[in-house]
Amino acid sequence: MTRSPAKKRSASLLSAHIQPFGALMVLDGECRRVRSVSANLDALLDTPLPNPEKLALSYLLGKRLSQRVRREMQGRERLPAPLTFVRQRHGRNVRYQLHALRSAGQVLLEIEPLQTLGKWRLLGAVNERLMKLADATHQDELIDYLVASIQQITGYDRVVVCHFDSDWHGFIVAQALGARLPSILGQRFPARDFPAALRSAYERNPIRYIQDVEAPAIGFYPSSAAPSLEDSLLRAPAADRARYLKNLGVRGSLTIAMQGDAGLWGMVVCHAATPYPTPPPVRDAVRALVQMATQRLLLLRARQEARYLQRVQDSLVLSSTARKEPRSPSRLLSAQAETWMALFRAHGVALWMDGHCYRAGTAPAPDVIDQLAQRLGRSHTHTGPWCSRELAKEPLTRSLALDEQCGALAVPLPVSQQQRGWLLFFRPEQIDTRYWAMQPAQAPSTLALPSSAWCEEVRGKCEAWQRVERLAAVDLGEDLTLAISAYEISKLNRHLEQERKALADANQRLEQLAHFDPLTQVWNRYRIEQAIDAELVAAQRYGASFGLLLFDVDHFKAINDTHGHALGDEVLVALARLVENSLRGCDHLGRWGGEEFIVLAKHADREALVGLAERLRELVTLLSVEGLHRPLTVSIGVAEWQPGDSCKTLVARADQAMYCAKHGGRNRVEVATGEAL
Ligand code: GH3
Ligand code: MG
Ligand code: MG
Repeated sequence: MTRSPAKKRSASLLSAHIQPFGALMVLDGECRRVRSVSANLDALLDTPLPNPEKLALSYLLGKRLSQRVRREMQGRERLPAPLTFVRQRHGRNVRYQLHALRSAGQVLLEIEPLQTLGKWRLLGAVNERLMKLADATHQDELIDYLVASIQQITGYDRVVVCHFDSDWHGFIVAQALGARLPSILGQRFPARDFPAALRSAYERNPIRYIQDVEAPAIGFYPSSAAPSLEDSLLRAPAADRARYLKNLGVRGSLTIAMQGDAGLWGMVVCHAATPYPTPPPVRDAVRALVQMATQRLLLLRARQEARYLQRVQDSLVLSSTARKEPRSPSRLLSAQAETWMALFRAHGVALWMDGHCYRAGTAPAPDVIDQLAQRLGRSHTHTGPWCSRELAKEPLTRSLALDEQCGALAVPLPVSQQQRGWLLFFRPEQIDTRYWAMQPAQAPSTLALPSSAWCEEVRGKCEAWQRVERLAAVDLGEDLTLAISAYEISKLNRHLEQERKALADANQRLEQLAHFDPLTQVWNRYRIEQAIDAELVAAQRYGASFGLLLFDVDHFKAINDTHGHALGDEVLVALARLVENSLRGCDHLGRWGGEEFIVLAKHADREALVGLAERLRELVTLLSVEGLHRPLTVSIGVAEWQPGDSCKTLVARADQAMYCAKHGGRNRVEVATGEAL
């Protein structure tokens, strides 16, 4: 709905009234034309007002002062400090204070008479208190001292600090009381009492002063040129504000905003039961004290937060130790759960990773955590934490069986692109008894007096998750993600190492199978052939002589037949061991097949080959195998390498020689003649 221009105009006309303790002049943006003046200006300055069209700044303020105002307001939003001037009033010299500020394209000049007061005494008192505030080390001590100081300096009947919570409800956290107003310490004022427009006005102009709510409001001359007064200290209170204060039993009030780094932290409110003149220097003193206290308060809070974050950091040594000895998520949780729960004022903690759930303290059942994590994964896609104080009312969680949990703080753990984990803290319900100075649900028109405060039990909520806790949770989440990743990597490495070892074992087995005879564990035919081929190449190139001994067990069939195949096997194994152990390191033994073996003898001429063959033959006759009652013998055919040999021809010659040995009566050595038959 749009308001008609006529209505809008009348609304602004209505608000264009000031309080009578000062006078106001409204100038154009260049400080040249006077648009209107408050109707009390003539009385205040003791200067009759001319016709509206003759209103001139130099006439009202004098030439020098008006030039100075014009000069100092150039490019400025407000004067850095008020100007003072002296005028004759009813035959006496009166000092005035003049302040100028821009508002909605106009320049407002606020003029107030200055009573003589013990300025130097005031300065001394303020300085001493400023120094004490600057040294305060505790928040409570700081604000208690602030309200006490302001009460002593101003004499107001009640000075309080009202702190805003996250819902903009005001909570009276400190109070200094005079004689005439009741205590409101510990009481709450609903957010409705501090509408957004009021709060943003405090951000522009941190001070609001009402000398007497019931003082008649002063209009403007000419009344058609009504100014916008939102930022003026002189502005008369709106009707509902005036009613509100009257209902509180307050006639005079001075309010100074305490501006935090994230909006309005709170305000200092001074109340008087009677009209209460507070001269500009006293207001300035109060403002200086509040500013100093606010700065100190923010510093103390920042320090406290830094200390808290440091404690969280200290609990995180995770990422550094993780690299040295990575721990599984469950071990991490069981080691850290107690510390984390204490830091985050939680009674339960859970770590959910890719369907696995680890819990400590009073945490929900695993399937509930699982559902919660799935839902969070779908709906909460940004990287910051998610939190709630009222899980039972939250759309995401109200259908979950979270009986013992009232609040949760969930930190996403971006372990990988596909995989997301959650670190979850749980808080129980905290029943909070609140004393409302104004009933929060009631309409402003039916306000009651603060003496009858409402007591309300707030159920179904846990303690609020503080900003610093949410920040710390993000730090913790990042660290935990690192620790978990380090663990995953080490697990993967261990797995890879196992795989690599298994592969090496398999290769070794394969090589064994490929190169060794399974019964005797000496080289198989394939491997001894390879070795012979290699030796042939060397012999061909360097002429180094070498040879083969092919030997076959005599009457082996009979051993099998008499003593069984198993003993036959044992004989073969014993024979192979015996021969192998009696060879030089450079010679090789291989099983050629059945009970036939080949010795590859390197760097050996015919004589050496025969010598070796004889030695072996004799050695074999001495071999004793349990169960075998007669000596074992072998027939050996010797073949020496000759140029042009292949593996085949060389072996064939050795074979021939071996047959000769058989035919010659066995247990003999025969040397191959020059050529194979
Ligand atoms: P000779 O060589 O003196 O002429 O007589 P022999 O009895 O040794 O005759 P032959 O070479 O024909 O027989 C070899 C036997 O060796 C035949 C076969 O059953 C046996 N044999 C071959 N391989 C194995 C084996 O791995 N284990 C056992 N126990 N016997 C084998
Ligand atoms: Mg044979
Ligand atoms: Mg034989």
